[in-house]
Amino acid sequence: MTATKIPVGISACLMGDEVRYNGGHKRSLLCLDTLSEAFDFQKICPEVAIGLGVPRQTIRLVGSFEAPRAQGSQDATVDVTEALAQYGQQIGQQAQAFSGYILMKDSPSCGLTSTKVYTENGVHPRKRAGIFAEVLLALNPLLPMEEEARLNDAKLRENFVARVFIYHDWRVNLLPTASPAALVDFHTRYKYFVMAHSQALYKQLGQLVAKAGSLPLNELLNTYSRELFLGIVKPPSRRNHTNVLYHLLGYLKQTVGGELRQDLLESVENYRQGTVPLIVPVTLLNHYLAHYGSDYINRQFYLNPYPARWGLRNAI
Ligand code: SF4
Repeated sequence: MTATKIPVGISACLMGDEVRYNGGHKRSLLCLDTLSEAFDFQKICPEVAIGLGVPRQTIRLVGSFEAPRAQGSQDATVDVTEALAQYGQQIGQQAQAFSGYILMKDSPSCGLTSTKVYTENGVHPRKRAGIFAEVLLALNPLLPMEEEARLNDAKLRENFVARVFIYHDWRVNLLPTASPAALVDFHTRYKYFVMAHSQALYKQLGQLVAKAGSLPLNELLNTYSRELFLGIVKPPSRRNHTNVLYHLLGYLKQTVGGELRQDLLESVENYRQGTVPLIVPVTLLNHYLAHYGSDYINRQFYLNPYPARWGLRNAI
């Protein structure tokens, strides 16, 4: 856990601000009641910021899928494409001091993957980012970003929150005093988290870290961060989690035997078969590793990624 809260950008309507076209909001209980305990939400409403009032006519994306215009739904002469893109540039710069961003779905400004484009023939079959979010993402391709509605999915929610914590650690703790040794230490702490996402990714990052002394530091950091943050976007599978749990169990081989070991094995197997959630074997392992594990293993992010009371691993 970090001592200070983690700065995370958010669509202002998700924080309960009455900034939507109809004067309403889309208050997110997850963000307000849970995540705000550790996240310092920076509320941003692009449409209000560019001078559209509340209430206002709705805008929508119109034209080609690749380069649509953001126009008024009733009055197509209202075109705010450039204004939204410019504001995206401005916030995109500021977002370099954020460790995550949560966006409102469907919006022609804030949507990340769910915004419709209206064409001459109706609605384009694919959906895309809104104008503001598109620029934000282009300027911050590694920043953990997600639409709030997608956080209703337990796996996506858990993984997004973990990604924010790692990104924050990277940005705030590693980068300012980066060195080959600091990167090795960082890589070591995230070993099992990365392995849960992909063995291949873990191997690949390990090979990079092995070159820590020989590659120019900037090149090393750029390559490592790109591979890491793009490689952990997809949540881990149950199979990969199980593999990690067995690895962790291996650290108790000499110290926990008999019935206790049997209990541990059973909880991992129950998780593998889907009869208990991930929190069950992780809690048991944590208990024994705290007593019998080495410093190395107890520093693993995988064991305590974020406040356990958020219950994010109770549902996966
Ligand atoms: S979706 Fe974005 S632009 Fe629309 S009201 Fe919410 S914050 Fe404002």
